[in-house]
Amino acid sequence: MKKILLLGCSGSIGKQTIDIIKEHKDSLQLVGVSVYNNVDYLKELLAEFDIKFAYLKNYNEELNNLYPNTKFFYGDNGLEEIVKEDYDLLVNALVGFVGFVPTLNAINANKDIALANKETLVAGGQIIMKAIKEKGVKLFPIDSEHSAILQCLQGHNKKDVKKLIITASGGSFRDKRRDELENVTLEDALHHPNWSMGSKITIDSATMMNKGFEIIEAHYLFDIPFDKIEPVLHYSSIVHSMVEYEDGSVIAQMSNPDMHLPIRYALLFPNNLKDENSQYLDFSKMLNLDFRPVDYGRYPLVKLAKEVGSLEGSFGAILIGANDEAVSLFLNRHIKFMEIEEYIFDTLKHAHFIQNPNVKDIIEANRWAKDYVKNRWANK
Ligand code: MG
Repeated sequence: MKKILLLGCSGSIGKQTIDIIKEHKDSLQLVGVSVYNNVDYLKELLAEFDIKFAYLKNYNEELNNLYPNTKFFYGDNGLEEIVKEDYDLLVNALVGFVGFVPTLNAINANKDIALANKETLVAGGQIIMKAIKEKGVKLFPIDSEHSAILQCLQGHNKKDVKKLIITASGGSFRDKRRDELENVTLEDALHHPNWSMGSKITIDSATMMNKGFEIIEAHYLFDIPFDKIEPVLHYSSIVHSMVEYEDGSVIAQMSNPDMHLPIRYALLFPNNLKDENSQYLDFSKMLNLDFRPVDYGRYPLVKLAKEVGSLEGSFGAILIGANDEAVSLFLNRHIKFMEIEEYIFDTLKHAHFIQNPNVKDIIEANRWAKDYVKNRWANK
């Protein structure tokens, strides 16, 4: 039985993780959860599962009385503390930089990690991978691209890898030129052609910042230099990523675009089990598997992420902070779509670089970047 702590239950990845846990009750046991402020959803979870510990943003008297055997965590430090409880695998499906310290604390408490939180590796990849190595714990990606690469690497020698090829759907505006993006709306941006996801990541997909983050994550997850990681546009989102080997052979992982698959693979690694959520490709119909190069002029944030990533150090945390805040301004209709990247470039231009940051430096760099974006907007 694998005991699971799931942070970020009420989000899109969190709910799909619950689906997978329900389907594999013989091997997976949900023992801990976090819901931020969704009290009703926490009540549902407490009624259905034997939850030993739970995080909620604010103290809740009613739940405390109803579930005396559940240990509740609250407030600013609650997420950083709950990861020290008794379980085997942390599924980190938190959205945003708030996911960084809980991951690190969990590693230091000798827990294996299934990581959907992008900010953890982009902001603090050096620190996280060092801790992973020191503690000897396992790190499984929950992202279709990195899960695909992990699957494509099975049974092969890493020294034979020539390149990781990360596919990108291109997001909601892939058929628009840059000059057509000037007046696009929030509603247009939230309409992703292939994936149904949370609003933050749907915007990150439209700017392709998300692909930039995934390149940085791939660098840390698979210990591959940036010049060996190549993004490629693939509109149908059937090939989720590929590994090219030195002999010219390319191994691809294909499936319907459905996050249940990478979640299941991370939770049940190395098994490819089926369950109620499994979907199958239909080869009796024509499948379109076209690939086209990424134009870095059209998607400058992908290029920026490669450059920032290559430097390592504190700029990843700056990138995350600036993007978080700029996307939040866009989601609140305060800035235009094209201003997101403008804010990010400007923030990096003014940021202070630290080559070997500690945890405090990372947190401070992230906070500085958020404040910089906020101030820039407030003083516009
Ligand atoms: Mg992805």
